Amino acid sequence: MREGHSTVTRRQDYAPPAFWIDSVDLTFDLEPTKTRVLNKMVLRRNPDVPAQPLRLDGDELNLARVVLAGQGCSFRMDGQTLVLENLPEGTAPFELEVFTTCNPEKNSKLMGLFMSGGDFFTQCEAEGFRRITYFLDRPDVMATYTVTLRADRKRYPVLLSNGNLVESGDLDGGRHFATWHDPFKKPSYLFAVVAGQLVAREQRIVTRSGREHLLQVYVRPGDLDQTEHAMNSLIHSVLWDEARFGLALDLDRFMVVATSDFNAGAMENKGLNIFNTKYVLAKPSTATDSDFDAIESVIGHEYFHNWTGDRVTCRDWFQLSLKEGLTVFRDQEFSQDLAGTDSARAVKRIQDVINLRAAQFPEDAGPMAHPVRPDEYLEISNFYTTTIYEKGAEVVRMYQTLVGRDGFRKGVDLYFQRHDGQAVTCDDFAQAMADANPDSDLARLLPQFKRWYSQAGTPVLKAEGRYDAAARSYTLTLSQTCPPTPGQPHKEPFVIPVRLGLVGADGRDLPLQLDHWQRPVDGNHTLVLTEPETRFTFVGVDSEPVPSLLRGFSAPVELDWDATPEQLLHLLAHDSDPFTRWEAGQRLALSIAIEQIAGPADGSRAEPLNDAYLAALRALLREPDLDPAFKALVLTLPDEDYIADQLDEVDPQRIHAVCDAMELQLAKALQTDWAWAYDAHENTGAYSPDPVSAGRRELAGLALHMLCLAATHGGELVWPGKAYQRFKDAGNMTDRLNALEALVYSGHDLAGRALQRYYELFRHEPLALDKWFALQAHAPDHNGSVLPQVRTLMKHPDFNLRTPNRARSLVFSYCNGNPAAFHRTDAAGYAFWADRVLELDTINPQVAARLARAMDAWARLVEPYRSAAREALARVAAKPSLSNDVREVVTRALA
Ligand code: ZN
Repeated sequence: MREGHSTVTRRQDYAPPAFWIDSVDLTFDLEPTKTRVLNKMVLRRNPDVPAQPLRLDGDELNLARVVLAGQGCSFRMDGQTLVLENLPEGTAPFELEVFTTCNPEKNSKLMGLFMSGGDFFTQCEAEGFRRITYFLDRPDVMATYTVTLRADRKRYPVLLSNGNLVESGDLDGGRHFATWHDPFKKPSYLFAVVAGQLVAREQRIVTRSGREHLLQVYVRPGDLDQTEHAMNSLIHSVLWDEARFGLALDLDRFMVVATSDFNAGAMENKGLNIFNTKYVLAKPSTATDSDFDAIESVIGHEYFHNWTGDRVTCRDWFQLSLKEGLTVFRDQEFSQDLAGTDSARAVKRIQDVINLRAAQFPEDAGPMAHPVRPDEYLEISNFYTTTIYEKGAEVVRMYQTLVGRDGFRKGVDLYFQRHDGQAVTCDDFAQAMADANPDSDLARLLPQFKRWYSQAGTPVLKAEGRYDAAARSYTLTLSQTCPPTPGQPHKEPFVIPVRLGLVGADGRDLPLQLDHWQRPVDGNHTLVLTEPETRFTFVGVDSEPVPSLLRGFSAPVELDWDATPEQLLHLLAHDSDPFTRWEAGQRLALSIAIEQIAGPADGSRAEPLNDAYLAALRALLREPDLDPAFKALVLTLPDEDYIADQLDEVDPQRIHAVCDAMELQLAKALQTDWAWAYDAHENTGAYSPDPVSAGRRELAGLALHMLCLAATHGGELVWPGKAYQRFKDAGNMTDRLNALEALVYSGHDLAGRALQRYYELFRHEPLALDKWFALQAHAPDHNGSVLPQVRTLMKHPDFNLRTPNRARSLVFSYCNGNPAAFHRTDAAGYAFWADRVLELDTINPQVAARLARAMDAWARLVEPYRSAAREALARVAAKPSLSNDVREVVTRALA
């Protein structure tokens, strides 16, 4: 069936709804192939809007009957929209009943009501509720819900919906029922139902106010032993939000449910969060340290939505970042606060920046670039992007940088004071922040600051420093530009907070004194850039300093600073700010890589890294009191996609060759140091996912990877054998997978045996098996070996394209995560991509559209890749019955 609407929706066209829905009473008769839904609504006209027909959204529903105030009534269909013209005049409430059926078993889109492992689940954000019943399916229509679920007791012993359980009992014919009432008004996208054979880990907690709450984590029977970490993360989330933001849990009962078939990571339905199993289930034998971290942050994220998303929601979907940017910021802060030490906080911050640069910067530079608050969309599902989420979080972080942590808290307090229970806009949040901090730079600059919401593209911040020995002054010239993005050829200057320090010859931060100041400040200062170019003069500077710019990554910009290698080496050795210290090492590697890539292909050196850089890395690796997790970050070279993002012309094979050469050289040059690092960190004792032991495993894993790489290229030969041994006897998945990856990525012969053994160990553990598929899709390409292997794996009995996690683990890992294997001169990678996009589009358009994005950067590819990529895109675009989701992505790419 065709999509409900195939036209562009524009932010400017927002109009309030013609009707409000006060209450909804839903009754479900749950059957896999035919679920009946009775929807009793109380509606009334919105007096602020001219009288018009009631238009209820629907999507793939079978309509049985419409009853108005107890009588049958006339209606018509406009496409999938149910239109009622003859409704009572005036603003008095009236009752409308709609009977429909739907087919959850056939619902492979996983939007609306669907089946997973024989159980019922829902996903309604953004527009899934209309696949359950006819409704005003828009976030500014907030209603009170009462839900009755009826189902076979044996097959569906657990019946859940939002809010509180008010009644339950038996029915005839082996059936039973449960009635739930949600005391909070909510938009339809926060509605949820779960029914099936589930078991729960339960925990009662008492919060600060003395209120008792029941926390539950529901999973399939047999998975209970994997819920402890999720439950602990949930408890930490509840306590943290109360302590840091004064936001208490407002429900007696808070439920988390896991399903193995889910388009996204998780969903913040009021009181009934539904999660991808990937972000709930963990035990040391199957989950890595990063899995444990991701669970903590996603559990936090969804829980924090209870206030930033549920209590205050979005007026329309253009405001999505209002809740997502803010909630990502909150989950990032939560993870940092939980990490504890300054170093662990910094490591988390660096990881967040790596992710932003790996995903969001390319998005901002590509055909799908859009502002944090977009102006239009064809399919809203395509705008659950890293720009809305991660760049949105950076924008929220800049508020905190501008008004301080206490000022930020005041802004949040005012936001809830003003808007609790409402559906609001990004402007409302900005205004609350400014009004709560009337004397701040933010309040003064608010209209300009809001350009972060309206202008797409990553700004480029250019920095030039000049030392004047005679005047004992240091002048820093900062200028900003922003490249054009689709529909936005010209950009106005942004408000850019630039946190900085000046590092002296002894490696310490100099006191900072701008020329118009009375006295200096210690170490750190945040300059607020508002103009295209501004000159800042620091006085009382006795010798030439090295500027440390954008400390903590104080703004989501690309820093264009022509530093000398000596300056960067100085920062790498001494910078007091871990972010800029790490960044100095990355800039050194990046400039070497770019120089190599630009040079003639036959003139490229097998050993591009210079001695000074290697010596600096060695010294840092050996530094006694430095956090191993931080060392691992510094010793990891920038990735191929990040390098590609810096170039106007992308030759993926060339980038890959240069990266390979750099990594191999680093492996060999530091062999004894890597051996030391492995021996000194490999034993972390009994498994615990805390940052200290995880950091040790991370560094040991990197060392083992480097040692195996060196071994397969003429280095010390014992390491692959040691890796195989470690793979076999590892006490946890992190060590085991690190060892397996070391073998696979170094291309050692033992890799095949290890992979086989891994499969036998984990064939019944879906999340661990996902890693097995992913690792093979990520494997090094020997004469085009990866694509045929991926094709073979698609026929594996454990592979199923309809399961999003599995599709992502194999198909996405190949198309998105292995550039050297994907960009083939014979175009077979692109043909594979096009085939899978088309195949997936008939199953699940959201997942298909994500895969379609793998070709975003095609226009910057060199030939023959460019023409072949365009051809593959054109082939997808030419299919007449394409979903809106995929059509929007490929049309933009080809525009
Ligand atoms: Zn979210």
